[in-house]
Amino acid sequence: MNEAEEAVLSRIDEREPAGFLGELIRTPSPAPPGDCREVSEVCSAKLQEAGLSVQVLAAEEAMPNVVATLKGEELRPLLIFDAHMDSVPVEDASQWVHEPFSGELVDGAIYGRGAGDDKGSVAAQIAAAQAITEAGVRLKGTLLVCAVADEEQGGPRGTKWLRDKGYLRPDSLVIGQQTDNHVAAAERSMCRFEVVVRGKGAYVAMPWDGVNAIVKMARLICFLQNALGPRLEARVHSHSPPPL
Ligand SMILES: [Zn+2]
Repeated sequence: MNEAEEAVLSRIDEREPAGFLGELIRTPSPAPPGDCREVSEVCSAKLQEAGLSVQVLAAEEAMPNVVATLKGEELRPLLIFDAHMDSVPVEDASQWVHEPFSGELVDGAIYGRGAGDDKGSVAAQIAAAQAITEAGVRLKGTLLVCAVADEEQGGPRGTKWLRDKGYLRPDSLVIGQQTDNHVAAAERSMCRFEVVVRGKGAYVAMPWDGVNAIVKMARLICFLQNALGPRLEARVHSHSPPPL
């Protein structure tokens, strides 16, 4: 470890990001509707306090994206930290052992909606930037810390929008998502498709004259599950996160 790395790491006190994570959890941003205005203000203030220059960029007023820059000696290499501020909603708060928007710290763990996905990453990335500025380390390139909105609903107004608008052109990118604390250099993707199964109506007393589309679809679902499921599970890669 070199001197600069040591200086940065020595600035990290885990109580600080843990406390900030609690604050993020106590600022709910469930999606839907995905309103991130309040939580983005909390992030902006923290990043400003850390000495970064903060821009708030929004495709839609209720979904602001916080993009904070820590300038180094050169524009590049450009490293981007990206994590999302919105969370999935709370369906039934009575089922929670700890109140979902309390951000309680119990036995070394922080509880609350979004604690893992993804406010923990937001807090960790901001803490990392803060440690760099506090250590007085000047980076060779530039660091962008992006706390984005609209991930849980697919990102059209979050990271995707920032990328499409040209705000994100990194040389390296760290996505803060849940990988059981493993570094994952690759990620699975997702493919949505629609299957239409057609039947044929028939008189109720003569079902043999018809074709039951529900039964056909049931066969298809079982095929996907039984034949393709195990093949998909077997497709692991040492660089991807552990299977869920
Ligand atoms: Zn997430």
